[in-house]
Amino acid sequence: MKTVGVLALQGDFEAHCRAIARAGGSAVEVRTKEALAGCGGLIIPGGESTTMWKLLEIEGLIEPLKQFASEKPVYGSCAGAILLAKEVTRPAQPSLGLMDIDVVRNAYGRQIDSRIVTICVEGGDLEAVFIRAPVVSRVGSGPRILGKYNGDPVWLEEGRHMITTFHPELTADLRVHKRFLEKIPG
Ligand code: GLN
Repeated sequence: MKTVGVLALQGDFEAHCRAIARAGGSAVEVRTKEALAGCGGLIIPGGESTTMWKLLEIEGLIEPLKQFASEKPVYGSCAGAILLAKEVTRPAQPSLGLMDIDVVRNAYGRQIDSRIVTICVEGGDLEAVFIRAPVVSRVGSGPRILGKYNGDPVWLEEGRHMITTFHPELTADLRVHKRFLEKIPG
């Protein structure tokens, strides 16, 4: 069985662990570089990206994570997507730069910051939960768009890495988690 680490410093990591188990993988909560080393891929969950970055620094996980990502797949959802981006604005903050995309945080505004909608993905529709989501404001030539909402790319992959600005761990549909599992060599 494929072992997927879920960064468990902050945010909704437990829901991702349950989704990975439902999708047929084995989920491990990751809080140390030793736990990370045993994983075939890593999920960075939703939460609060500034706090998550600070906790990564405090735990000494930034360099181990960059090293891990140079060989293995990383999937970031919402706050995790912010951490995978190249450039982050509103406000600006450091990130891992694993994908050639820029994001604007909390870009849908206060009134409509959380909602359940239907998005367009390859091969049909997908129900998607957005919670204070970022908007992908620039996509480089490398990333491939897998899903869109209102014209904005909301699900992208670049090589082994992947992001969603929504939360697939909160719905029953397992397509996003299954696609990530496929990126991990068996
Ligand atoms: N608004 C959060 C941030 O900027 C992300 C929200 C989420 O992960 N649901 O980090």
